[in-house]
Amino acid sequence: MARAKACRDCHFLTAETQCPNCKSTNLSTSYTGVVVILRGRHHDDPRKTSYIAERLNIDKPGKYALKVR
Ligand SMILES: [Zn+2]
Repeated sequence: MARAKACRDCHFLTAETQCPNCKSTNLSTSYTGVVVILRGRHHDDPRKTSYIAERLNIDKPGKYALKVR
């Protein structure tokens, strides 16, 4: 499996050449840390229940890079 790329705009991790989350093509292979944001029980905004989601401003569940360079 190829190393995933991280979106510089929303930090989403993807193996594609375009971010499926925000449609940006501004991707980086240089990132540190991976966080997985899980879907809330009531499909709530993850920012309500997750400190990390709030800090990274993530509003959809998925795999994200902690820091993108
Ligand atoms: Zn993105």
